[in-house]
Amino acid sequence: MEFNAYDALSLPYEEWKKLVTEDWKEPRFRADQICQWIYVKKVFDPHAMTNLSKPLRDRLLHESLARVPIQVREQKSGDGTRKYLWQLEDGNRIESVLLDHGGHTTACLSSQVGCPLACVFCATGQSGYVRNMSVGEIVGQFLLMEQRLGRDINNVVFMGMGEPLLNVEAVFESIRILSHPKMRNLGARHITVSTSGIAPGIRDFADFETPIRLSVSLHAPNDSLRGKLMPVNRQYPLSALLEALRYYKKRTGERITIEYILIDGVNDDPQLAYEMAALLDGLGVYVNIIPWNPVSVGKTALRRSPEGRVKAFCAVLTELKIEFEIRREKGTDILAACGQLAMGTK
Ligand code: SAH
Ligand code: SF4
Repeated sequence: MEFNAYDALSLPYEEWKKLVTEDWKEPRFRADQICQWIYVKKVFDPHAMTNLSKPLRDRLLHESLARVPIQVREQKSGDGTRKYLWQLEDGNRIESVLLDHGGHTTACLSSQVGCPLACVFCATGQSGYVRNMSVGEIVGQFLLMEQRLGRDINNVVFMGMGEPLLNVEAVFESIRILSHPKMRNLGARHITVSTSGIAPGIRDFADFETPIRLSVSLHAPNDSLRGKLMPVNRQYPLSALLEALRYYKKRTGERITIEYILIDGVNDDPQLAYEMAALLDGLGVYVNIIPWNPVSVGKTALRRSPEGRVKAFCAVLTELKIEFEIRREKGTDILAACGQLAMGTK
């Protein structure tokens, strides 16, 4: 029976309702109760769902399966960041991160096992690609971190392993589940998706039923440099990316965040800040400057920009009245910072 069992964490609310009322001939509120156990109480074992009837618990036990990832490792950083290594059902491993901003918590979720886009500066990209994650796996890492934390996680960012817009269906469904009022009820305003610039994915994302925040990894303002750092730029050059971003902006009215890593002598020339400003003119973006975090695989020749270079680059943004912030590093001591996540071989 378990062979055909429903993947409990992948089921959207409407499916639960249908399953409970039509297949199992139970009243509708039972679906709400099951979702409460899973998404609010983070209880995945039907035995423990004490307000359900015994036959319903048995049904759940035999006909649905909460395929929760197995925790392999939890690491805590001096700054409150926690990094988790999870093992998925097929043995693959992924990482996710909990960031603490003075009691306010952000979950950094993975969407793929590895990443096919191979950006030269990113540990995930340099460690290869295995597959897309399922809805249940994406949702599962969040629920388990919330369970471990013991209180609500406030924000979700899809900035872990993988490119979320190469796994749109599963990412969209996981957002629906996490934000559904009868499920986890996380506000859509508290969810951000980060993309390396998959233009068609950005359009799909712009058409999503609720506007979700978008962050774009730019890292270079012209095609020749960006193509060297991010192979994806050869498939979706800046003209295609910009067109998709304008569409997103028009559809959602949301402000787009631009992520820009500073790598010493590579993309930190102040002239490039002028070029970036010209490229993004009229889009009303917010820029996140990220000091490049050392990664232990791939191109070792990269170095983070020294403070003077960071300042010079940011001075241009100030001069041009572009709003920006320098992202504070989190969890670098446990390799939990942006771009440092890998499939757990270390
Ligand atoms: N694939 C998506 C989301 C995951 S990467 C994307 O690329 O946007 C999350 C962020 O970390 C991206 O902005 C990415 O460019 C950045 N990043 C990758 N490697 C990094 C590194 N070594 N140091 C700092 N940021 C890095
Ligand atoms: Fe993939 Fe994003 Fe890393 Fe590039 S930066 S390799 S797109 S995870």
